[in-house]
Amino acid sequence: MLFQRIKGLKTLLFSLAAFVLVYIFVVKSQAFWLKQMSIIEPLLMVLLAVVIVFASYFNRSRLAFLSLLWLFYYGSLSFSPPWSNWLVQQSDWLTIFGCSSLLIFSLIKDRGVISIHGVYRLLFISLAGVIAFFWLETSESIYAFVKVSLGIELLQQTIRVELPVALCSLIIFWRAIVKADLVISATFISFLVWVLHQYQLTSLPITLTILLLNLYYLLVIVIDAYSLAYRDDLTGLPSRRALNQLALSLGRKYTVAMLDIDHFKKFNDTYGHDIGDQVLKLVAKKIGEVKGGGKAFRYGGEEFTIVFKRKNIEQALAELEAVRQAIQDYKIVIRHPQRKTKQQRSVKKGNKNSDFKTVSVTISIGAAVRENKQSFEQALKCSDQALYKAKKKGRNIVSF
Ligand code: GH3
Ligand code: MG
Ligand code: MG
Repeated sequence: MLFQRIKGLKTLLFSLAAFVLVYIFVVKSQAFWLKQMSIIEPLLMVLLAVVIVFASYFNRSRLAFLSLLWLFYYGSLSFSPPWSNWLVQQSDWLTIFGCSSLLIFSLIKDRGVISIHGVYRLLFISLAGVIAFFWLETSESIYAFVKVSLGIELLQQTIRVELPVALCSLIIFWRAIVKADLVISATFISFLVWVLHQYQLTSLPITLTILLLNLYYLLVIVIDAYSLAYRDDLTGLPSRRALNQLALSLGRKYTVAMLDIDHFKKFNDTYGHDIGDQVLKLVAKKIGEVKGGGKAFRYGGEEFTIVFKRKNIEQALAELEAVRQAIQDYKIVIRHPQRKTKQQRSVKKGNKNSDFKTVSVTISIGAAVRENKQSFEQALKCSDQALYKAKKKGRNIVSF
């Protein structure tokens, strides 16, 4: 849990730092960019269209909707459609509507854009607009209540606008940390940009600001698609493709280990494939927590690989033994995949844990240090032979 939060904070801070650096660079060279405005303006329209198409194609619908909203806003400013005057006058509504739309993007999942889910999302966004409107209508009476009944002296604007904005910012920030997701980090940055723009605190014209944000969205789509290709879907660990990639960057000294769950076929036969999948996922999580600089991969099936860069076998063995022990001691709580019938549930009423079960598994590990001039494949083969030895010796042990 804590590990995930730290990862989330790191993702958010890293994204924010990268965006701020590029933003400052563009501010510093603003004179140059302002001269290119005649090209940048049409370029922005093209970029918005590209992001919407790309995000839809790569199933990043939240970014597609974000760009769609920017397109709508930018279009309203640039082409003066009939509603643009009204929009400019409703700056408080616009601020809250923008913030609450971004809040929605931080809460929902990516789903198809041109589908029933896309329609739902559009309805949600429209609903945010309606709620923002009603909030502004009722905020006056809330202001009076806070002032008279609670005796708290606040500026009316604080309750009208700043309170919902602050609330949205806290929730989006929290979601970015909990989910460690690049798209939610992008949503948080968009939120900051939107609020600063609405309070006229941005140093760049809106065209450049939206351009930068959408280039950033495009980068997020590319990074996300790339990392998806290198990540195993079930366990979340890096995949064999990532292992092959790492092999190319290894130096002369490293230790590699193969890990295999014991009697997993029998486990599947006893508990079913679905519970097998759940266990595989949880065991993978424990393997991924290996210390001592080890990097874990799902090699395939119920087999995993750990690579210790610049580590000799003794250093690696201690960490591997810790992983083996941790899995042996791990009481895995699993959920029955089939929900019980109403009748069965009522029989067990009062026992809240009736849908849960505790199981445990063990793993065998084989390790090998890279010998002189060995290729990665040869070192891996040695660790596989060591794994075979561990299985022969009776399983649940580390061999080398
Ligand atoms: P051993 O102790 O010798 O490793 O026995 P084992 O049964 O684990 O060995 P074997 O390699 O013969 O079997 C691997 C089994 O792992 C086969 C399959 O049922 C199971 N398995 C492989 N991948 C998955 C998966 O993604 N999900 C589930 N649920 N089971 C898997
Ligand atoms: Mg196996
Ligand atoms: Mg096995």
